[in-house]
Amino acid sequence: MKIIMLGAPGAGKGTQAKKIASKYHIPHISTGDIFRSNIKNGTELGMKAKSFMDAGGLVPDEITIGMLLDRIHEADCANGYVLDGFPRTIPQAQSLTKALEDMGESVDYAVNVDVPDENIISRMSGRRACLACGATYHIVYNAPKKEGVCDVCGQQLVLRDDDKPETVKKRLDVYHEQTQPLIDYYKKAGVLAEVDGTMDMEDVFQAIVKILGA
Ligand code: ADP
Ligand code: ADP
Ligand code: ZN
Repeated sequence: MKIIMLGAPGAGKGTQAKKIASKYHIPHISTGDIFRSNIKNGTELGMKAKSFMDAGGLVPDEITIGMLLDRIHEADCANGYVLDGFPRTIPQAQSLTKALEDMGESVDYAVNVDVPDENIISRMSGRRACLACGATYHIVYNAPKKEGVCDVCGQQLVLRDDDKPETVKKRLDVYHEQTQPLIDYYKKAGVLAEVDGTMDMEDVFQAIVKILGA
């Protein structure tokens, strides 16, 4: 099963993608996590991506598309995957469609997690991330067992630089301008599914499972 998660920054794509990956036994591929891990390890790719991310903009398609297409050709992707944070532009979506067509395949579901902008800023300011293992928490809605410490791996949690309110506003603008048009793109492709992302995490997940099938 090949699934795409659509939605604004902070809509809950990552939270739901992790649950989907674990239930359906497919890898969770987050382009944001791949970039952050490259930044942490000081790679050339990381250095290229960092300034765009810090400014709340998108990493250029030339960098992002190749990286993602390499990833989905790895062996663990043979039975599908859930993409979180890709595609984010029409050219990215077209490249993915083309690469899949070349293999005689296509996306099965594009799940749009719908959350209004008003809810986003508070979600983001409460988000805490583990840069070691990619786990995410929320200080109110999904608190770690011990404040500031990752339940999964024990590392220190951080407020991402790009989750500060000024940068979140910029990211929302970029989302509306460049990413929101993908909702229509996947609607036309006949694979769009919409869920109300303002519900509790578990209810959002149940709505998604209903769409994907048990
Ligand atoms: P969120 O989950 O809050 O939406 P991500 O972790 O997906 O954030 O992405 C963080 C940042 O990484 C983005 O703001 C952008 O700069 C960069 N990024 C991630 N995915 C892409 C992509 N597909 N295209 C361009 N930039 C991306
Ligand atoms: P995205 O990947 O779309 O940027 P995340 O999954 O990282 O979003 O979620 C953003 C923040 O909101 C995190 O702190 C997460 O714990 C929290 N969150 C996710 N889903 C919900 C929900 N349904 N209700 C309340 N908070 C949520
Ligand atoms: Zn961790």
